Amino acid sequence: MERPIDFSRDRRMLCGICAHQWLVDLEWIDRWEQSREVCPGCGTTCEHENAPRVTVDPDDLALDDDKIAQLAWYHTSTLPDWPTRDFDPAADLTPETRRMMGGSKRVAAWAARQRGKALHVGTYESAIHNMLRRMRDQADHGSQFYLYRVLLMPSVVVREGWLIDPGNFVGDVVLDEVCPPGVDVARYLNYHEDPGGLSLALGRGAVAGVQQVAVPLRDACNNDWVREAVADLDGASDALVPATGRLGRFMRPSSPRAFLGRELGAALAGKLPVNLQDQFASAAAFDEGDNPMRWARRTSCLFDLIVVPLRALAELDRQERRTV
Ligand SMILES: [Zn+2]
Repeated sequence: MERPIDFSRDRRMLCGICAHQWLVDLEWIDRWEQSREVCPGCGTTCEHENAPRVTVDPDDLALDDDKIAQLAWYHTSTLPDWPTRDFDPAADLTPETRRMMGGSKRVAAWAARQRGKALHVGTYESAIHNMLRRMRDQADHGSQFYLYRVLLMPSVVVREGWLIDPGNFVGDVVLDEVCPPGVDVARYLNYHEDPGGLSLALGRGAVAGVQQVAVPLRDACNNDWVREAVADLDGASDALVPATGRLGRFMRPSSPRAFLGRELGAALAGKLPVNLQDQFASAAAFDEGDNPMRWARRTSCLFDLIVVPLRALAELDRQERRTV
């Protein structure tokens, strides 16, 4: 069962001081994070330790234990076979790294801890948001990503209530610590990706199957924006021009084409919900030497994942389900 996808929906805030709850839009949260809004109940600003934060929507379908396994869940990864079976986290360690880690016994213990980490799945919005955050990092800027739709075992046992997003949930949660024996799935409230949404921490045994597409979708984007962007970029020189002005000698030379590409990307980012704009502009940044057609198509397809999500869902519908 799919839930409506809406990156711009209102969020519920809960004040940790006066317990006031109220709905806000993303622009409000953006102003709040810049200390330009206060709690309407007690006047607290965002600097306070117990300042208001987003909280769970009481109508969220994922609060219903019986619905958890019926809902479609999502994940994005650079792994083409997530969740990888017989995953060996130590496979890529060099002999020198193994020595530095304290030898084979220590490496084996570390690998066991890595294998014990929880998988995580969430809303479509959170999966796309997570990908944009990762693309922003240089390490994954040019990586191929995959969008996974995850179907759970109908029999999963869900932990009661929900946990608070502990910041870096994705990398650091040991499955046994959030899912005690007899429990397959734990809900947690997202603060950073699709804020206010519920994600799940789970083991691979809770996954019945996955469908997968490479994202941004390939060849799907040949629209007016792409055609105009390519014509403009082709018309701009790719010769490097040294920066001018007082700070010029501290800046890297840039080409008119790359400058234009970054402007086009930023303009597109400006049409997105405010909490995705920086990450999108950075994920879509035009690098010196980028091919205009490839860049424009990728950027447009990335944009469509947010504004036309049904296209990605339709593509997933066409994929066979893989049991894990
Ligand atoms: Zn308050």
